[in-house]
Amino acid sequence: MDAKFDMGRIRGIPLTVDASFLILIALWSLPYLRTGDVRDVTYAALLIAGLTGSIVLHELGHAIAGRHYGVGTSHIELNGLGGLCHYVIALPVAPWPRIVMLLAGPAANLFLWVGLGAASDLIGAMEEPDWLPVTGWDRLENLLWQLAQMNFWMLCFNLLPAYPLDGGRTLEALMRTRTHVDLARHVVGWLGLVVALGCALSMRTQGTFMLVLAFTLYEANAFVLHSSSRPPWSRWR
Ligand SMILES: [Zn+2]
Repeated sequence: MDAKFDMGRIRGIPLTVDASFLILIALWSLPYLRTGDVRDVTYAALLIAGLTGSIVLHELGHAIAGRHYGVGTSHIELNGLGGLCHYVIALPVAPWPRIVMLLAGPAANLFLWVGLGAASDLIGAMEEPDWLPVTGWDRLENLLWQLAQMNFWMLCFNLLPAYPLDGGRTLEALMRTRTHVDLARHVVGWLGLVVALGCALSMRTQGTFMLVLAFTLYEANAFVLHSSSRPPWSRWR
């Protein structure tokens, strides 16, 4: 899928949206839209805005860490896996700067999970203002709580051992300190296919959008396995 839309700049970094992101969001919000209730649709729109903002902050985490190590960002892309931060040059070969840059994204989700959870608790403990209907106050508390949970989910998902997720690339960087790069790529690639299968199987409980994640992960990991040289274990007899 190559349809991309220019969405302007954020902190001077161009932001593009791939069509696969729109499909992901449409499938994810389907249960809310199906009810036809205006309040549910408004709630879903606010959740989508919060989710998109969380993904952009995750990618900005990568961009800011990259800038710290002198690696600029060409653009941030929202796609079928959430998002991707495109650096102008390849990631540093040295493992620790590479790992810090990779983990800066999930770190943003960790902060958002804690911050939004605390905001939701605070609102729950406060008296509802007279000018707001009680249901509105409850919904705000619920919205912040759900956004916090979504950030926790994003934190865990991004740490899974699969390409091109941060967890998979961090595992590759860690393995490369001890072993050959081909072995590291093959281990992460095969683990990535298992993660893709897990995503596809979880479709029934998590929702149809998991199929988009499964397909994107399958494509990325199959590509790495196909394009890297022969696995080292093929030479073991
Ligand atoms: Zn990331």
